[in-house]
Amino acid sequence: MPYQAGNRLGGESASKLGHLDVLNSLFVNEVVQQFEKPDLSEIKAPDIHWYEVDQNAVPLKYIFASDGSLQHLASTGNPKREISYVKTALLRLDPFMIEKIDPDYPHPYQLRKIMTDSAQHHATVFPMKNITIHGTEWISGLRRLIFDSFKDPQLDGEPYETLKWILYKKWFGGQKCRSPSFECPECYAENSGMEFDADTTRCSSCGSTLFITDVLGLHMEMSEEAASETLASAYMMIHETMMLFTAIRYLWNRNHKVLCDTLFLKDGPLTLRGQYSKIVPNIRDFLAYAMQKGAPVHLCGQEKTGKFVDFFQGTAHLFKPLDKVDVPRFSPLSHKFIHSEVQRKREPQYPYGYRTNYGEKVLLKQSPHHLFVLNIPTGQYLDDDDKPNCKEDLIGIDRIMATIPKMISYRHESALVPIELVNGIASLSNYPSATVLKLFSGLE
Ligand SMILES: [Zn+2]
Repeated sequence: MPYQAGNRLGGESASKLGHLDVLNSLFVNEVVQQFEKPDLSEIKAPDIHWYEVDQNAVPLKYIFASDGSLQHLASTGNPKREISYVKTALLRLDPFMIEKIDPDYPHPYQLRKIMTDSAQHHATVFPMKNITIHGTEWISGLRRLIFDSFKDPQLDGEPYETLKWILYKKWFGGQKCRSPSFECPECYAENSGMEFDADTTRCSSCGSTLFITDVLGLHMEMSEEAASETLASAYMMIHETMMLFTAIRYLWNRNHKVLCDTLFLKDGPLTLRGQYSKIVPNIRDFLAYAMQKGAPVHLCGQEKTGKFVDFFQGTAHLFKPLDKVDVPRFSPLSHKFIHSEVQRKREPQYPYGYRTNYGEKVLLKQSPHHLFVLNIPTGQYLDDDDKPNCKEDLIGIDRIMATIPKMISYRHESALVPIELVNGIASLSNYPSATVLKLFSGLE
């Protein structure tokens, strides 16, 4: 019971409560108000440095883009069977081809011609539930399926060769590297890595046949009877990366001049998380080595959603260009800035992206309405909280930036034509379900 108000002093708790109530409702009201009507004047410009895009840089001559898609399909009837259908695609085109496409109303026939003339795709299927693989244990059957999928004869096994090229660091020529170490999927014994160029080996503990694709650790997504949906998405993510690196490997082995004149575009960040991050050091090694050999690889990922896109969209109005005629600008985001301002982590365990990223975040404001969150490699990881902070840190940034205006699409916000096209190839809509069921039937 609160003290009742006397003649001299007001009541105690009642006024305190009233006070709190007012505070609460003010706070709640403020949140609600800002949610409904943002006060843009309250947003402070983040402390990042912007650089003007070099107007004299030469655009790249060729473009490769890769992407993937996946779909989970469930059967009718009993028992309900489930599969995941994965597709990845690689597209080659050049700015000249893009110029011929009407940016506002592209002709479907023209697009289809580009897709059939210049694209390659890969498709595979994973059993998810109530599907048995005859004649073998579930996990070893799935491991075999992953191995066989990588070796897809439709692509002459090229993405598989690229995977081996990365795992065994084959760009070094004479040097015979082992693969990264891994755990036996059958008995969990540690394997110190497969011998140079091996496709398979035997586990010294349990005698199981181990495939080079086991090094990736996709089996960690599987349980005894079912594969998790993340298996399909992890496979897709790795395969679309291998598709893009197949183009890089091909040119590295044959023509450094064309390699240096090519933009390699990936839909999404240049990141491999979890157990897949074990190939990140190898990718960085290659990019650094190519740079050192005078053959910079112009690799670029575009993030279309996520924290960085939200962050950029929320603050872009504070930065130039504010007018169409202004020069475009870009800003590399340092590890420190990302931790404190984008991720809002107080005491991060690792430097930003240390284990997982082979590209750094770069914001590009091409025009008042064209905002891009790009990922651009630095070669080896820059183990410095203030990095990257200048264009010298980022491989080939001037020519990458000079190529962006040649690829802008007007069909979607901040979209790039090659990524739009490769999305189209990798999307499943053009594949009737009959094809999927045909693939499916061989497994039953
Ligand atoms: Zn074993």
